[in-house]
Amino acid sequence: MRNPLLQVENVTVRFGGLVAVNDFSLEVTQGTIHALIGPNGAGKSTTFNCISRFYQPNSGRIVFDGTDITRSPASEMAGCGIARSFQNLELFNELTVLENIMIGAHVHCGGSLRAWLQAKPPAVMHHIDEVIERTGLAPYRKHKARNLDFGHQKLLELARALAIRPRLLLLDEPAAGLRNREIATLDRLLTDLVRTDGLTVLIVEHVMQLVMSISDRVTVLNFGTKIAEGTPQQVRNDPAVIEAYLGK
Ligand code: ADP
Ligand code: MG
Repeated sequence: MRNPLLQVENVTVRFGGLVAVNDFSLEVTQGTIHALIGPNGAGKSTTFNCISRFYQPNSGRIVFDGTDITRSPASEMAGCGIARSFQNLELFNELTVLENIMIGAHVHCGGSLRAWLQAKPPAVMHHIDEVIERTGLAPYRKHKARNLDFGHQKLLELARALAIRPRLLLLDEPAAGLRNREIATLDRLLTDLVRTDGLTVLIVEHVMQLVMSISDRVTVLNFGTKIAEGTPQQVRNDPAVIEAYLGK
């Protein structure tokens, strides 16, 4: 058994009287794809926001590669190797595909963003070119983000996250709104990133065809509480999961 890269330990998040995440624990093994699924409002995005440090849990711990990051600021996450995409696109619409991805990579470089966009250091550009190639965005390099179709905007979000060379990639509904062909591309890309490059992925997704195909492990949340965990096969056949989520 390989080491956990990410440990979420007994995390609870309250919004006023609402318990959005309730004493939730999760371990994501290095070099695997782990899916977090469940109905709308189950607490999946809130969990992501705790891991990426946008939200402070009321109790519990987040440990990344053996280091407690529960109190680290969100701005340090990229530097320590955690990248995320958002459920709703957060692109710079007036900037090009290349510029959006360069902004992703800027976190490692410090200094002014403007100078960085002009300097284009060769070693970093080489990696960015590779990311653009692998995500299929090469024909759109110089296109403004707002002129891309939805599927390519989603890929651009993923490309920007990959530009920081993350060790852990958090993806919040990357397949939402994608066509079957685009989902197949995403499936191949994520599988390749994990199996070939050793990336670790935690993915929130409703597209079960993708979840069942790519995941090594699946955790199911309902009303902030873990109701099941196991291989895709185990989870798919779990009566509690069918009742709460899959049966509808
Ligand atoms: P999911 O991503 O599984 O659909 P969320 O984590 O977005 O669920 O939401 C879990 C619950 O927490 C929902 O009831 C949601 O309305 C609530 N919630 C999420 N974020 C906030 C917030 N910033 N303020 C108040 N309530 C929130
Ligand atoms: Mg969500």
